[in-house]
Amino acid sequence: MIEIKGFLEISFSDWQGKICSVLFLPRCNFRCPYCHNHSLIFHPEQYATIPLEDILVRLCSSRNWIDGVCLTGGEPTLHTDLPLLVRKIKRRGFLVKLDTNGSNPLMLENLVERGEVDFVSMDVKAPLTPFSYSRYIGLAVNLKPILDSIEILKRRKVEYEFRMTVVPGLHSEEDIRTLAKHLRVGQRFILQNFNPENPLDPSLRNVVPYDSKALKKIEKEVQEMM
Ligand code: SF4
Repeated sequence: MIEIKGFLEISFSDWQGKICSVLFLPRCNFRCPYCHNHSLIFHPEQYATIPLEDILVRLCSSRNWIDGVCLTGGEPTLHTDLPLLVRKIKRRGFLVKLDTNGSNPLMLENLVERGEVDFVSMDVKAPLTPFSYSRYIGLAVNLKPILDSIEILKRRKVEYEFRMTVVPGLHSEEDIRTLAKHLRVGQRFILQNFNPENPLDPSLRNVVPYDSKALKKIEKEVQEMM
């Protein structure tokens, strides 16, 4: 079974409009320079594995407080037994949100088609060209799985959003507009500010994040382009 490396009992910010618990799953197949969860990717052994049975007991005891459970990482869909984990949580009556980088469309499609996830938040990293995407995820990329995942979500069989983490100096405003044009999803495109605390690429530590009001303004502009 998946090794769960982190458990946040109550979060008000990981699922808009819902109160949820959050499970952190290790490892990722991307190397985004701005990633601040990289110890979970490179050194998951640093974290104790939390027994699933203990988590399920704690979820059930929080039943009156939480609406659902957010599965995040790392990249949750790297784990072949993710669907089993999802079923165990749903069987106990909780909604499930999946955070993903979109690199496993087959698993995503199965979860969506079977109605096993209630919300999907897909990180989109850059304009949808191999050159841009590879630059922003720190690896050469095959874009097809990403494009397939985007299409799966746009069929609207599940509630979804696309999120882009915006790093000043790395992403230009033009990058944001280009990606918004590629996605054409209006308000489902959310901009997330860069967090300079402990990024994978240490040179980004000195980068000052966008002013939050300026970022909201750009977000509104690109959402209204559609
Ligand atoms: S930001 Fe997300 S997709 Fe990128 S390396 Fe970190 S966990 Fe993986």
